[in-house]
Amino acid sequence: MDKKPPTALIHHPYRPPEGFDAPQPGIFKASSVFFPNVAAMRSREWKDKTAYTYGLHGTPSSYTLEERLCTLEGGLQCVLAPSGLAALALVALALLRSGDEVLLPDNVYEPNKSLAEAELRNWGISHRFYDPMNLADLEAKLSEKTRLVWLEAAGSVTLEFPDLVGMVRLCKARGVWTALDNTWGAGIAFQAFDLLPGQPTPLGVDIATQALTKYPSGGGDVLMGSVTTRDPALHMRIKLTHMRLGLNVGANDVELVLRALPSIYLRYRAHDASTRALAVWCQSQREFAQVLHPALPGSPGHAYWRGLCTSDAAACLFSVVIDARFSQVQVDAFVDALRLFRLAYSWAGPISLVVPYDLARSRGRWPVQVAAGTVVRFAVGLEDPQDLRADIEQALAVLRA
Ligand SMILES: *Cc1c(COP(=O)(O)O)cnc(C)c1O
Repeated sequence: MDKKPPTALIHHPYRPPEGFDAPQPGIFKASSVFFPNVAAMRSREWKDKTAYTYGLHGTPSSYTLEERLCTLEGGLQCVLAPSGLAALALVALALLRSGDEVLLPDNVYEPNKSLAEAELRNWGISHRFYDPMNLADLEAKLSEKTRLVWLEAAGSVTLEFPDLVGMVRLCKARGVWTALDNTWGAGIAFQAFDLLPGQPTPLGVDIATQALTKYPSGGGDVLMGSVTTRDPALHMRIKLTHMRLGLNVGANDVELVLRALPSIYLRYRAHDASTRALAVWCQSQREFAQVLHPALPGSPGHAYWRGLCTSDAAACLFSVVIDARFSQVQVDAFVDALRLFRLAYSWAGPISLVVPYDLARSRGRWPVQVAAGTVVRFAVGLEDPQDLRADIEQALAVLRA
């Protein structure tokens, strides 16, 4: 049948030869996915990833990234979400019902706290905060209503490293789901699904989420999240909620993460080495009452970090507590004086970032292991650490002035 030009252009018969193979996988974009016939339309299954039905339900690109993230984290199933925060919300909406309670660590990633306070509450889901450095406090707060416990290791502002093994054991014994926001460890610092390697029955969290925005993307130009599991029933519950909420990630963003993943171990270790050198140097500066970084012996939870993490894996974050004798105006001037450290949220990109925090406002109470003063968090990028040190040095001169 001869076709008119527009039709010929749209229904073009050319198919490139198969067998193209190259370092990066092809990127597939679609809302519509074609079925060869009605029988295929009726029988195709997307839930187990054996076929394609609609872009929202998965493409070769999303399946590929999910499988690679399972390898990174030691999981068996994974779903992608449009941001790290969307991954946290997805876990809550998939697992919690009216009348349930969720426990959050006092140092939880703040938007997860506001999700509980401003959204979950409206759905009849209550929440309580526990002290991440006190197992007995978590134990005391577990109740008949507790369905889910969020964990973070380390906390992303004050960097305290909790007794993850103790907390997971406790929750398992009580039949409560554990979800770890694994953005800090990224599947590299420790294995969330196998905390005590070599044991006959693995001890691990039920769910690991990540802000792929951070290390997996590594570029400061992508927002994405993931929810990884090792239990088919739990995964299916999350996947169905994911589908019903219509959560999608763009194929271009998937491409960026797939492109960055091969270098994630190298980047993580490079961030780690620079961060450690800077944190140690900061300890010798009189203006800093405390330096918070899990690999430093005096930092909260250092022994737990040493027990769980590979020795060269402490991520790109450290915080300083600027001595209480400096006013907020002086601290702001210090932060504003930084040139290489840009004032911005997020971390794990090439550019170093800094954020001052108001802990008195954001925490239920001042963390006992943190000195009095103002917390300033540094996220160390991939610049030469000597230049970063010089940058902090010149800003310290402004603080002293
Ligand atoms: C950044 C971050 C998130 C959220 O990720 P977004 O992609 O920015 O929504 C969640 N948890 C932690 C610990 C984070 O650092």
